[in-house]
Amino acid sequence: MFGKLKNKLKNWTKSLTKKAEESEEKKEVVEKLEQIKEIATPKKFNVGTQSFEPDLEKIKDIEKELKEKVIEEKKTVTEVIEPEKKLENKEESKTVTEIIGKPKEKKSFFGSLKSKIRKVKISEKDFDVYADELDLLLLENNVALEVTEKIIKRLKEEIVGKELLKKEVEGEIKDAFKEIIDEILVEPFNLIEKIKNREDKSEPYIVLFCGINGTGKTTTIAKIARQIKENKLSCVLAAGDTFRAASIEQIKKHGEKLGINVVAHEYNSDPASVGFDAIKYAKKNKIDAVLIDTAGRMYTEKNLMNQIEKIAKVTKPNTKIFVGESLTGNDIIEQVKSFDWAIKIDGIILSKADIDEKGGTALSVGYVTKKPILYLGTGQEYDKIEPFDKKKFIEKLGLDEE
Ligand code: GDP
Repeated sequence: MFGKLKNKLKNWTKSLTKKAEESEEKKEVVEKLEQIKEIATPKKFNVGTQSFEPDLEKIKDIEKELKEKVIEEKKTVTEVIEPEKKLENKEESKTVTEIIGKPKEKKSFFGSLKSKIRKVKISEKDFDVYADELDLLLLENNVALEVTEKIIKRLKEEIVGKELLKKEVEGEIKDAFKEIIDEILVEPFNLIEKIKNREDKSEPYIVLFCGINGTGKTTTIAKIARQIKENKLSCVLAAGDTFRAASIEQIKKHGEKLGINVVAHEYNSDPASVGFDAIKYAKKNKIDAVLIDTAGRMYTEKNLMNQIEKIAKVTKPNTKIFVGESLTGNDIIEQVKSFDWAIKIDGIILSKADIDEKGGTALSVGYVTKKPILYLGTGQEYDKIEPFDKKKFIEKLGLDEE
């Protein structure tokens, strides 16, 4: 996950540190030029054999030329003015070397300064220049726009204006980044424990699944059903997707493979009543959980959204889960917001994490819903599902690796 992010973040940090370092270097160059100017300005000004009366305009020109040569062309001060040349006044006569120190052999001015700079202060201006780059690389990793804005704002608060040891900048940025992610992601609850520890054991624990078509909702239900069975609990599946005939067959097939009963009605029948019947069946047979499948719907399909509200009202689920695809970029935000608005979801499962190199979707959905991610689907087989682990997710960013 976040395949390229860790390297890019590293480069980003390096560039930002370098920029801050250069600002420090420029400050030092300017300071040195000021020193030269101070000694040369008020009195008589000699360069080599030439003698000038104090001419403020000319001195300004020399100063400007020096600055340009030293800063823009990255030459050393002593490359621009010969070290033995004197900058004189009446009382004292000093060479350039005496003022700015001996030139360092073959090292550029910036090179020779670098070793001296241990601390940097990242300015707001420098940060803003690089913020655009960070913005882009987060977006490339499927982190939604509003989340990248939040991350960048928080990073800015953490590092801008602080005097940091140069070698600490990368660590500070990484730590701030990890902290922000930790804040964004809500700690998940354990669904199996919830089923196991439900208050009224004579009632089944009801889980309603929603999401758009093809995201892996039905497969995810089968994976959860298998987990329930593995934990010595029982469950029944409700074929609530009566919109697509093939989906009834599909969930029945999963049930058969797993040895779990499926309650189904006919194609086009009322999905709320399928859920209702499955609950009745579970109560009668002392089954621990009912997992209700629903038709995949686009959040723009008003009728289907009204239908899922009705299913939720009739079946009164203990937990409503949105299943989304890890691979989805910004679109998932609108999806999850709409389902949350319609039925108030309690948790999220992200499927296809195995084929997602980016990983930003988890941050996006976590941030906009403030709901926990419960599981990650990690393959097509029934056992390919992992409880979402915040710590592991942050570790997977690879920020601590060298
Ligand atoms: P639904 O329309 O949302 O019910 O989606 P399905 O359950 O039919 O899944 C659609 C496709 O995604 C199927 O080919 C599944 O095998 C596949 N799929 C589901 N979950 C995962 C997963 O975690 N990883 C991978 N690689 N494929 C998955």
